[in-house]
Amino acid sequence: MKNEKITIIGTGYVGLVTGTCLAELGNEVFCIDIDSVRIENLKEGIIPFYEPNLEELVKRNIKEKRLFFSIDLAPAISQSEIIFITVGTPAKENGEADLSYVEKAAQSIAKNLRDYAVIVVKSTVPPKTAKKIEGLIKKYYQGSFDIVSNPEFLREGSAISDFMKPNRIVIGRESKKAEEAIRKLYEPLNSPILVTNLESAEMIKYASNAFLATKISFINEIANICERIGADVEEIAKGMGFDPRIGDKFLKAGLGYGGSCFPKDVRALRQSAGANGYNFCLLKSVIEVNSNQRKFIVEKTEKLLNGLENKLIGIWGLAFKANTDDVRESAAIEIIKSLRKKGAKIKAYDSMAEENAKKILPKEVIFCQNPYEAVQESDGLFIATEWDEFKKVDLLRVKNLLKSPNIIDGRNIYSPNEMKKLGFNYICVGR
Ligand code: NAD
Repeated sequence: MKNEKITIIGTGYVGLVTGTCLAELGNEVFCIDIDSVRIENLKEGIIPFYEPNLEELVKRNIKEKRLFFSIDLAPAISQSEIIFITVGTPAKENGEADLSYVEKAAQSIAKNLRDYAVIVVKSTVPPKTAKKIEGLIKKYYQGSFDIVSNPEFLREGSAISDFMKPNRIVIGRESKKAEEAIRKLYEPLNSPILVTNLESAEMIKYASNAFLATKISFINEIANICERIGADVEEIAKGMGFDPRIGDKFLKAGLGYGGSCFPKDVRALRQSAGANGYNFCLLKSVIEVNSNQRKFIVEKTEKLLNGLENKLIGIWGLAFKANTDDVRESAAIEIIKSLRKKGAKIKAYDSMAEENAKKILPKEVIFCQNPYEAVQESDGLFIATEWDEFKKVDLLRVKNLLKSPNIIDGRNIYSPNEMKKLGFNYICVGR
């Protein structure tokens, strides 16, 4: 098999994982970023974020001379047959996806193209963006090229295995030649490949994320009813999950969805629907339920602690989910801010996400070296991220260190019965 020369524009979670995995498959990959510090570090094998197994893979492929990092895209573009755009698409104030990074990347590609290439939009973008990008490139480059939409479905925390063993690969295209090039690239992964037009491929990504977010908001509403009727949402989810039409994934009640994708993609899909003359009313509720979920748990905490003014609360977990250091749109961060607004003082612990959280939390938040330090002399413990580490702690020690044995478990990691037996005042979600 002929291996390809590939350029990746944007070396974040998606770009770095895509580039590294494509190098691991035998291709020659040039990873480009505008962040020169990030690139210098990557050349030494220093990864800008935590992702299991990524460092080892990056180092191996640098050594094997299949993976290269640079801020200079001209030499990379001029020799690549396939160019991926993997830059961020954050939300604007009104929820719309900010496409300025994608557009800038496309412009830089166009100005440096010398020969036919397949330009692949992997960033999550609203339907019709690939067509726009095609138009933009044509302004600067008169030669031949093809555009492909190839949304990414990897999850932070399991990004490498998600990329290497995807449950589907979506190729949106207009040209057969481009389809063949991308098919060939992914052939070694032996995954189902769905070929569509550009708009459908773009929509599949938004629809998938919005559907998963809807599942989370749905189970959170069920949890809220469970609390009122004496039912257990974990049992409800289990009972529902046996039905293959429903499935048992993404039915975990808790603090709602967070992270760099779901919140912004749900809002962007709603905004994009509106811009195309359709009111996606279901998503309005999905967003509202998600935001209420965090308000409700803060209210429950306030009630359990008899007010929050001057109460010291230990927070376990700052990342938006376990196995990542990403704190973008993390429930933990939002909850800490709400608790502080109501007068609480915060001691927080998350060994992995501490550095990122420090950049966005007020300086009054005290960061701890271990979970026990965070509960020492605290009026209560709030569990905000479901790290495995918290499931294995010595709960009696926790009880002895706390000023009062109050635990608010936003992730349902303990059994209510066990906690009662141990003498905790324990509240959780939907049980
Ligand atoms: P990120 O913020 O981690 O990384 C983006 C990178 O692009 C940064 O390093 C930035 O410096 C770089 N960049 C910006 N403009 C550039 C330019 N003109 N040239 C070169 N580099 C540039 O973003 P991410 O989390 O990897 O997400 C990228 C896209 O993939 C988004 O659209 C996101 O929605 C989507 N996505 C993300 C995930 C995820 O789990 N993070 C999963 C699937 C899809």
